[in-house]
Amino acid sequence: MNIILLGPPGAGKGTQAQRLVKQRDMVQLSTGDMLREARTSGTEMGKVVADVMDRGELVTDEIVIGLIREKLSSGSASGGYIFDGFPRTLAQADALGALLEELGETLDRVVEMQVDDEALVARITARSTCGNCGEVYNDNTKPVPADGACTSCGQTAEFKRRADDNEESLKTRLLAYYKQTSPLIGYYYAKGNLASINGLDSMDAVAASMDEALG
Ligand code: AMP
Repeated sequence: MNIILLGPPGAGKGTQAQRLVKQRDMVQLSTGDMLREARTSGTEMGKVVADVMDRGELVTDEIVIGLIREKLSSGSASGGYIFDGFPRTLAQADALGALLEELGETLDRVVEMQVDDEALVARITARSTCGNCGEVYNDNTKPVPADGACTSCGQTAEFKRRADDNEESLKTRLLAYYKQTSPLIGYYYAKGNLASINGLDSMDAVAASMDEALG
C-alpha cells in the first residue's frame, strides 16, 4: 500500500509516518528529511536549498522530484511507501503519478490531516526531535524524558529544534501550504483516493482515524 500524508506543517504527518513504519513495515519517504540530510552532509544541493528552507519557502520541483525518483528506483518497500511532505505542488503530484506508473505501483490512499492554524503555531514552536532516531517530542504533550534517553531508540541523544520551527518561517510555510499545496486536496479528491481525518485529536485518536482511513 502506497500512501501520501497531506497537511500543513505541524499537522502530525511525521509522527504518524513513524508509527506506520513501526506497525506496518512501511518505508517513510520524507523530502524534508532528505533535504535536511543534504544540508548536514554539505552536498552542493544542500547548500543551494539551505536559505530557501530557512525562509520556509518551497525548494524547486526539479530537486525534490529528483530525490524521490532516486529513492523509488533504488529499492522496493514490501509494506509500501509513505510519502510525507511530498508532493507539495501539482507538478510534483503529476510527477509522482508518472513515477509510480513507470514502476508498476499504485497510489492507494491520500490522507489529509486537518488541523487549525492556531494549534499549528503552538505545536511547532514546542517541537523537538531526537538527534539519533528522529522521534518527535512536544514540550507540552510529550516532553523529552528527564533522564535525556529517547523513548524510541533508548539513546541519550541531543534533542534538536528545527531552524525553520519559528513563528516567522512558519508564516511563510503556511502561506506556501495554502497557495501551492492545498490544491492537492481537490486534485486527489477528484482522483477518488482522498480521506480526511482530524489531526487535532489525541495521538491515539489520530492513529485510530488513520488506521480506519487506510482500511
Ligand atoms: P518539512 O520537513 O516537510 O516541513 O520540510 C521542510 C522544508 O523543506 C520545507 O519548508 C521546504 O523548504 C522543503 N521541502 C520539503 N519537502 C518539499 C517539497 N516536496 N517541495 C518543496 N520543498 C520541500
